[in-house]
Amino acid sequence: MKLNTKIVLTILQVSLIPWALGGFLAYLSSQEQINSQTYSNLDAIAAIQKNRLQDTLQNKLDILQLFTKSPWLTAYVRDYNAQPTLANKKRIQDLIEAPGRSLGIKKLFVMTLDGAVIASTDSALLGTDKENEDYFKRGVLANDESILEKDAAGIVSQYLVGPLISNGKTEGVMAVVTDANDIVDVAHDFTGLGKTGETLIVQKMSGNNALFLTSTRYDPSAALERVVTADKTNVPSVHAVAGEEAVFNNVVDYRGVKVFAATRYIPSVGWGIVVKIDKSEAFAPVVRLRELFFFIIAMVGVLMVFIGISMSRSITGPINKVTEFASKISQGATQQSIVVTSKDEVGILAATLNTMIERLQDAYATLEKKVLERTKALTEKTEEAKNSEKAALNIAADLKTEEEKLAEEKTRAESLANDLKKFKLALDDTSDQVIISDPEGMVVYANAAVERITGYRAEDALGKKAGALWKQPMPKEYYQNFWHTIKDLKTTFIGEIQNKRKNGEIYTAMINVSPVMDDAGNIIFFVGLERDITREKEIDTAKSEFISLASHQLRTPLTVVNWYAEMLLDDDAGKLNKKQKEYFDEIYQAGRQMNEIIKSFLHILRIESGTQTKNLVSTDLTLVAKSVLAELHLNAEKKDIRVIERYQKSIPAVTTDADLVRVITQNFVSNAIKYSSKGGQILVALETVDKGSVVAGKTAHADSLLVSVQDNGIGIPAADQDKIFTKFFRSENAKKLDPNGNGLGLYMSQIMVDIIGGSIWFISKEGKGTTFYVMLPMDGKRLV
Ligand code: ADP
Repeated sequence: MKLNTKIVLTILQVSLIPWALGGFLAYLSSQEQINSQTYSNLDAIAAIQKNRLQDTLQNKLDILQLFTKSPWLTAYVRDYNAQPTLANKKRIQDLIEAPGRSLGIKKLFVMTLDGAVIASTDSALLGTDKENEDYFKRGVLANDESILEKDAAGIVSQYLVGPLISNGKTEGVMAVVTDANDIVDVAHDFTGLGKTGETLIVQKMSGNNALFLTSTRYDPSAALERVVTADKTNVPSVHAVAGEEAVFNNVVDYRGVKVFAATRYIPSVGWGIVVKIDKSEAFAPVVRLRELFFFIIAMVGVLMVFIGISMSRSITGPINKVTEFASKISQGATQQSIVVTSKDEVGILAATLNTMIERLQDAYATLEKKVLERTKALTEKTEEAKNSEKAALNIAADLKTEEEKLAEEKTRAESLANDLKKFKLALDDTSDQVIISDPEGMVVYANAAVERITGYRAEDALGKKAGALWKQPMPKEYYQNFWHTIKDLKTTFIGEIQNKRKNGEIYTAMINVSPVMDDAGNIIFFVGLERDITREKEIDTAKSEFISLASHQLRTPLTVVNWYAEMLLDDDAGKLNKKQKEYFDEIYQAGRQMNEIIKSFLHILRIESGTQTKNLVSTDLTLVAKSVLAELHLNAEKKDIRVIERYQKSIPAVTTDADLVRVITQNFVSNAIKYSSKGGQILVALETVDKGSVVAGKTAHADSLLVSVQDNGIGIPAADQDKIFTKFFRSENAKKLDPNGNGLGLYMSQIMVDIIGGSIWFISKEGKGTTFYVMLPMDGKRLV
């Protein structure tokens, strides 16, 4: 229900309910008042009418008694009865004649006890017999005035009858017939009874039925005709003839109309009196009051509706505005505001709504900001999650790889264990002494050869420092170098050592001690191999002596040859002609070449006999390169070859054997010069290489230093490239360009690189040029 309707209805209720209640109560009280007033009116009127009727009857009784108590009349009738003579009759006739013409009397007549009319003012009656008439029967017994009769013309007369008693004896009956006007007057007097009220005079009939004695207001012919039967107990006439004197509410009259009524009864005649008024008339004022009341209610209602509508408009107008505003807000219109000027609650509500909407706007703004921030954070989180997922996937992949690795490791470990078993068996039987010690040098394994070489049992050596039993002290520097190599540099120490057998004999052994490391690079064992080389040493010494002797023997004459050839070429012995110079130059070159060959032989002999040990020292390779180039610059100049040096800035010092590196570099540069055509170009470069990076197709397994020598010479034919490092090998194109090579330089270089730990390789294209590389680990440790 709309608020407007509610307000109007409420106003109507509030205003009309008191009205309705008040009106209803007023109505009830006026009805009550009217009831009681009507009752008392009717009762009073009934009393009056009864009195009037009784007075009338008394008057008539008085008239009757004028005759019945007349001593003459009673005497004359007695006389007549005694002597029914005409004279006696005449005397009676005369006596009633005179009064019969006055007093409003219609007629008088006297009857004998057998009903015969003996005297009458109406001569027609004389001699008639009234013995069966009611009034006669009543009149014999007592004075009676209850009988009314209607003649043929419809005129009602009242019969007053009474006995004529003389000397205590009834002699006859006197009848006085009067008009009934006085009774009709009473009945037709409507004073105080309004437009509908009337007085009914009814006579009790046999069976208690009620006979109307007069005409009524509504029925002119009711007199002595209309009867209300005794069974109609809701008709007051019945109650009246029953002797009830009362007032009645819920009754109807002879017409069936609802009436208020009051009843009276006159026992002397058996008449009932009913004084009544139609309820409709009695209640007319109440009805008017009711109509007025409804009219007023209607008017008040209409007025209240108008007031209600205007009030509700003044209330709901702003409320509607507020509602509309609130509905707009609920639909998301947050940019609105409302104007309600009233200072009442609605005004306050509107102002509050405005404040709310402002706060809402603020809240929205904050919310939007927060949403943006959250969204950003969420996006970042999602990104993070994605990354984490990626990371997790990577980890999973790594884990898988790890698992695979582990499986591999396991297989490897198993095969290693097998290998180890075989290895142990082999070790046990090998002729070389094998000692394995922990990182502190405490022996954990010694093979059977120990006993053969030293004379001590292998078990005796266990748990002791390696070599403790057979040690023949060496110089302090030896041990320093030994431990430095295997412990600090974590590389293999190869060297000769002097030991003492159990029988006191001194022997020479070649030892090869290598550290074994775990993945983290920590030493877990040292493996030492010892070979008794006392015999070889002796032979070697003899060989060395021979080589030394031979080389010296060869070198001395060669030096002399070279020296003299040089002098001759320098024209020290007089000017040589061109031909002579050519021949001497050949001799000088051959001599130099021979010298080179001898040097190489000596080197190779040293290396092959194992006497070539490495001497690791901190080396500045730039200096090495420069010295090589200085030595060979004349050769380059001769062939008009341009040498370019490119050294990386601040090349760190590298731990290596400087002499061996020098020999290698010298080989590279001299080959580049040899195998380049006139006017060629050589690039000598030095650079550091980080562990893991790839240079010229080779991966660096440690932080290293790279020496490269590049030329744009004849190059190495593809078919020869895998033979280049073999002893005495020379390519055809090389032999053609320079027949003086010996094919030993690269063979030697490779062995040397092997000794100092590193890699050597080349890239070459026939006719385009060649680049030789040597990569050396910075820390001098052997590359795996
Ligand atoms: P030699 O130079 O005395 O012949 P090497 O052992 O130094 O002996 O070289 C072996 C062979 O490798 C050479 O004969 C030559 O065929 C080839 N060679 C070496 N360096 C180069 C180079 N820079 N250019 C072309 N060929 C080369």
